Amino acid sequence: MATDCLFCGITAGTVPSAQVFSDDQVIAFRDIAPRAPTHILLIPREHIASAAALTEDHGPLLGHLFAVAAQVARDEGIADSGYRLVSNVGRWGGQTVDHLHWHLLGGRPFTWPPG
Ligand code: AMP
Repeated sequence: MATDCLFCGITAGTVPSAQVFSDDQVIAFRDIAPRAPTHILLIPREHIASAAALTEDHGPLLGHLFAVAAQVARDEGIADSGYRLVSNVGRWGGQTVDHLHWHLLGGRPFTWPPG
């Protein structure tokens, strides 16, 4: 846990969040500024700064996180229409919180390439 990390505050329960899933490895909660009808963030409880800091050892954690993402998408009713799962990395990637997270976005069509 990083004491100055917003999302570590969410995993610790000191920062409130609208959680839709939680277990010993992963938390999913609604984004405070949603960019789509469904906008959920999935984070590991472990503090990892971004996808750039991942190693082979994180494989089991990532497999679990993606399985949770698929389940949350089904639970939210966006699995059949499709959705976007994206992790921003670094300044030009648009990352503003330095704790690894995936955005699960759905409920409307998305364009490609992203802006
Ligand atoms: P990123 O810009 O890719 O690092 O994503 C960070 C996301 O965290 C943004 O979409 C923010 O709206 C969201 N966010 C920031 N603070 C909170 C919070 N307290 N609860 C939920 N989502 C948050």
